[in-house]
Amino acid sequence: MKEFDRSRICFLSSIIASLGLIGLLAQTNLFAQPDPHWLDHDRDRPAPPVVDPGTFSTQEQPGRPPSDAVVLFDGHDISKWVAMDGSPTQWVIKDGAMECVPGSGYVRTLESFGDCQFHVEWATPNPPHGEGQGRGNSGVFFGMGSYEIQVLDSYGSRTYSDGSAASVYGQYPPLVNASRAPGQWQYYDIIWTAPKFDQDGVLQSKAHVTVFHNGVLVQNNVELTGPTSWLQRAPYPVQPEKLPIAFQDHGNPVRYRNVWVRPLDKSGKHEYYLAESVLDRYVGEFDRGGDIVTVRRAANGQLAVSFSGAKFLMFAESPTHFFAKTTDVQIEFDESGQSGTLSVGEGGMPIKRVK
Ligand code: MG
Repeated sequence: MKEFDRSRICFLSSIIASLGLIGLLAQTNLFAQPDPHWLDHDRDRPAPPVVDPGTFSTQEQPGRPPSDAVVLFDGHDISKWVAMDGSPTQWVIKDGAMECVPGSGYVRTLESFGDCQFHVEWATPNPPHGEGQGRGNSGVFFGMGSYEIQVLDSYGSRTYSDGSAASVYGQYPPLVNASRAPGQWQYYDIIWTAPKFDQDGVLQSKAHVTVFHNGVLVQNNVELTGPTSWLQRAPYPVQPEKLPIAFQDHGNPVRYRNVWVRPLDKSGKHEYYLAESVLDRYVGEFDRGGDIVTVRRAANGQLAVSFSGAKFLMFAESPTHFFAKTTDVQIEFDESGQSGTLSVGEGGMPIKRVK
């Protein structure tokens, strides 16, 4: 056989073989496999957990949360909320609702949350007072005050569109105005996807939000340009993925009830955003069997711990217990901050303040 014919046959054979492989791949559906760990219709794939879905609210009655929700306010207990600096909030409970006391400042959750489903029922004052941004203004904030879903009396009341009820403030007007009359109970169901940063603080993915207002889709997975703010387009602040959720004090006695959250990232531990005065209690130098452990304040309500030439950013699991996310380093302080126990992976060694 001529050399020319042989190479042409080889070329045609490789094309036929490739087509066969493509056919095989198509047949086994590898291109469309949503999760490579499981076959289509895999009989061993775990059943989804059973959740009691709860009930919808009425004007007379708040709804009942799904059975796996973290209840943040049940109409009676405000202990999961504090002022932004961690001190007790001045907001009051009236008739099963928590109410903003104008001038008292924002109220935030003690616990921090990242990606989540968030539900809240709210009512603006009746009779209404003021116009535009001055009429029943409050807000649901994610990211420790960085990202606002506007709460406002937009029922027959005109303001700039990207500042009306259910807007992503200053960025996206709601798709429609699904507002009820002032004094009526309304609700938001929000799917929040937090912005993500790498270890060096470089933004990896932006924040996204989906909002239903009184059951009507008003924000469809919109991508935030950065924090919501008045008069400026600010860049993303470098923040932990999990941060408190807050309600705004904008000078109007807006009420909230039946507040719950379903964290969508179930892998992590609970995280709390502690008051600066609590964090300051632990700052200093500690002796650990002749080694020095240095505890400093990091940005954003956290501690940084250094020992044996390594440094770790610590997250609060309680007012006294801290953990790192890159290595299994844990510290349990006593409440006075004079001593504690530091462990790496196992056991634990006592630490005692020297400075
Ligand atoms: Mg507002």
